[in-house]
Amino acid sequence: MSDFTKETRRKKSSRTHLVHAGRKPFDQHGFINTPIYRGSTVLFPTVADFEGLRQPYTYATKGTPTIRALEQAWSEIAGAELTVLTPTGLAAITLALMTATRAGDHVLVSDSAYQPTRIFCDGVLKRFGVETQYYDPRIGAGIADLIRENTSAILAESPGSLSMEVQDVPAIAEAAKARGVCLILDNTWATPLFFPPHAHGVALNVEAGTKYLSGHADLMLGLVSANTAWAKRLRATYDAFAMCAGPEDAFLALRGLRTMELRMREQERSGLELARWLATRPEVAQVLHPALPSHPDHALWTRDFKGAAGLFSVILKPVAKPAVAAFLDALELFGIGYSWGGYESLVIPFDCRFTRSMTTWAPGGPALRFSVGLEDVADLRADIEAGFETMRESVG
Ligand SMILES: *Cc1c(COP(=O)(O)O)cnc(C)c1O
Repeated sequence: MSDFTKETRRKKSSRTHLVHAGRKPFDQHGFINTPIYRGSTVLFPTVADFEGLRQPYTYATKGTPTIRALEQAWSEIAGAELTVLTPTGLAAITLALMTATRAGDHVLVSDSAYQPTRIFCDGVLKRFGVETQYYDPRIGAGIADLIRENTSAILAESPGSLSMEVQDVPAIAEAAKARGVCLILDNTWATPLFFPPHAHGVALNVEAGTKYLSGHADLMLGLVSANTAWAKRLRATYDAFAMCAGPEDAFLALRGLRTMELRMREQERSGLELARWLATRPEVAQVLHPALPSHPDHALWTRDFKGAAGLFSVILKPVAKPAVAAFLDALELFGIGYSWGGYESLVIPFDCRFTRSMTTWAPGGPALRFSVGLEDVADLRADIEAGFETMRESVG
């Protein structure tokens, strides 16, 4: 058995690719999976090797075989020049922003960005002399009018956290490129499987590996991948921070990688089935799922995406808060908790009123976010149906 070359890999489907990417069994005595390399020190055989740093591994902050296996696999899947791993998804976002900015710069951040991203921009970035301006996620090519002389980065997140706006990333990428601005994308929802970031003009792509890459709610991980133009700067900033991921998390993420497409396709199917069914329910005012034709950005999603995650939002018809609580508490299969992308279904109530500054969040009813797991979809539907029954009874 020989290693795939980059050329043969390009010809394979993504599912085949996910099985083989980053694996080097004959570097590991033939064992299929790259083991967990624990360590800090890496020994050099001679002082000449030490002074010349003449070996692939020199110190654990700069990579181990486990870390490198995942970085290389992700670069192939994302079509990136370089990938680095961070301890969390949020760390990947902050690393990308620190890579692209310096004091005196201006950055444009989507109003729909993950809230901790906003907290970082309004706090740390501001303290370091970088000004953040939020923009309407649906701005598209109009972003060009907001780019200033000192704009160094645009951060997009598509679909946006909770409110699910799909962004016209190719149009934003074109405007960014014309002005030499670094486009950062938080691509956690789609992953490179459903939205190939760099092919769409993204300079620095960010993923929370905590979500679908893990798939089992048992690790935290972030990934930043760079196109050719940004790879060197990303590597230098990463090395300066030494914000590296743990070896066990990288190992588990490599395990998750092998089944990621299967899980995501199944969660897409179940998610869509539930979303379509929810849209017919009398308790529901609106379902925010980009793959439904009723979603305002459905055409963009169809144009740019190869699939949908099992994560979507639902707006209920106006109902008192205790009734919503009665519904959520009655659910047996949907856990209440942060994060998503795992094998188990989750739900949370949310309210974007105080986490938006350029758009108005006025959905007209309570909002819920569902993350659909790998349970049988009929069981999930029955669980929600029973929850609605409890909600009706609680209203009396
Ligand atoms: C969860 C999430 C993150 C952060 O990931 P963590 O690993 O939890 O830090 C970033 N962006 C989006 C869109 C997310 O949903």
